[in-house]
Amino acid sequence: MRFNFVTLFPNIVKGYFTDSILGRAVEQNLINLHFYNPRDYSKNRHLKVDDAKVGGGAGMLMAIQPIADTIKDIKAKDSKSKIIFLTPVGKPFKQIDAKRLAKEESVTFVCGRYEGFDERLIEEYADELFSIGDYVLTGGELGAMIMCDAISRNVPNVLGNSDSLIEESFENSLLEAPSFTKPNFYEKKAVISEFLKGNHSKIASIKRCLALSKTKYFRPDIYSKVKASHEK
Ligand code: SAM
Repeated sequence: MRFNFVTLFPNIVKGYFTDSILGRAVEQNLINLHFYNPRDYSKNRHLKVDDAKVGGGAGMLMAIQPIADTIKDIKAKDSKSKIIFLTPVGKPFKQIDAKRLAKEESVTFVCGRYEGFDERLIEEYADELFSIGDYVLTGGELGAMIMCDAISRNVPNVLGNSDSLIEESFENSLLEAPSFTKPNFYEKKAVISEFLKGNHSKIASIKRCLALSKTKYFRPDIYSKVKASHEK
């Protein structure tokens, strides 16, 4: 799968994809990363990429021309790419989006800086807008890295064991049940004894109960939806 990053700071992003699972995915060509710096497309003689807001207001915006030309170039090379703008105004990015977007051939992340984008860029080019949470960051790169990580895990063969995707949080709309590793006793704390007995249907049922309680405690918002869907 191909990922394009439109960013003034490609080095922030590149480092994240050099190690571990995602580093391996890049090496094995399971994911391909491409970087486009709007500064390289700026027609301003000082290569400016920001401009003041029309009508006044604090801070500068990303200038329209460099980003518009960057996206046009991407579309010319990679016409099927889904263009995603990172913005606090977008819908919250969820696991379900990660799974859906992993089926695309290509995704382009447009990372804002300064006070964000000229709205006409969004109107003209955005297929989707995503926020990674209800807070404001200095730039879209972290959000793009988060989204790219979550999407890549769902690209076939990126994870060594694809069963990991089935058992983890947000599958079946629940958080993951508690897990344990060896030793069975550590500093007087024991693992759940039923987990040692090898009865897999019993373990699955205990895990389901624990996942429900954990979700109810930590994410009552998710729990109330699960409860409502069972009551239908
Ligand atoms: N003025 C904008 C607003 O109030 O919505 C915030 C601009 S922010 C300082 C600069 C850039 O960081 C944004 O254009 C966006 O790309 C990125 N950004 C900041 N917070 C984000 C979030 N929660 N989710 C996704 N992107 C975010």
